[in-house]
Amino acid sequence: MSKQQTFPAALFDQAGLNRQHVFDLASLPAAIREQLDDTNGFRQLILLGHGGTQLWECVQAATQPGEHPIDDYTVETIHTVFAGQLAANRCRIVYPGEAPVGLQQLGMLAGWHQPSPFMVGIDSAWGSWFAYRAVVLADTGFLPFVPVHRSSPCPDCIDQPCRAACPAAALAGEHFALDKCIAYRRQPDSACQYTCLARVSCPVGREHRYSEAQLRHTYGISLRMIRQHYR
Ligand code: SF4
Ligand code: SF4
Repeated sequence: MSKQQTFPAALFDQAGLNRQHVFDLASLPAAIREQLDDTNGFRQLILLGHGGTQLWECVQAATQPGEHPIDDYTVETIHTVFAGQLAANRCRIVYPGEAPVGLQQLGMLAGWHQPSPFMVGIDSAWGSWFAYRAVVLADTGFLPFVPVHRSSPCPDCIDQPCRAACPAAALAGEHFALDKCIAYRRQPDSACQYTCLARVSCPVGREHRYSEAQLRHTYGISLRMIRQHYR
C-alpha cells in the first residue's frame, strides 16, 4: 500500500470545488467500476462538486466564457493541483468526458444526494444548490472519506411549495412528469427557459441559491439539449 497522503482540500475549496469525496476503487460497487473503463494503475476515485455560488464567481474571474466554461475551469484546476501538490501522482479525468458515469449514484455513496420532487438532488445543508463537477481516477493514497449523513429535508416540509410553483404541474403526481416539464420549457413564452421555478421556491439552502447569471447558464445548457433533441 502506498503512503497515506493528505488530501489537498484547501486548494479545491479555494477554487470553488468545495465538495469533495475520496473513494477507494476497491470499495465501489462493480456496476460503477465498470463505467470507469480501464482503471489499471489507479487506486482511488475522487468526486468533486460545487456548492453555492463560489465556483461560478471563480469561473467568471478566471476565464473568458466559452461554451463550457465551468468544465474547462474544473479540468484546468485539477491539472494544476496534480501538477503542483500532487505532482508525484497520476490521474485520469473520467468526467467531464464521454463516459456515462453515474454521478447521482456516486453522490448517494458520498451521502450528498437525497431525491427531491423536482429530480435534482437535495440535502439539508446546501438545499439543491450543488452539482457534480468531476470524477477523477488517481493513484493516490488518501484516507477514504466517510459519507456525510444528512437526511432529506422533504419529509419534514409540510407545505412543499415546490409542487405548487411548477407551472407545468410536473410535480403534481406521485412521480416527476418529465414530459410535462420538457413540453413547458420548450414553449416560446415559458417562464422556465432559464430557471426552474420549483427549485427556486424551495426554502432549504436558500442562502446558497445561484445567481441569475448562473441559473441562466445552467438552464441554458439543458434548454439547448432539449431543443436539439426535439428539433
Ligand atoms: S420545497 Fe420542500 S418538498 Fe420541495 S424540495 Fe424543498 S424541502 Fe423538498
Ligand atoms: S423547470 Fe419549470 S416546468 Fe420543469 S419542473 Fe421546474 S418548474 Fe416545473
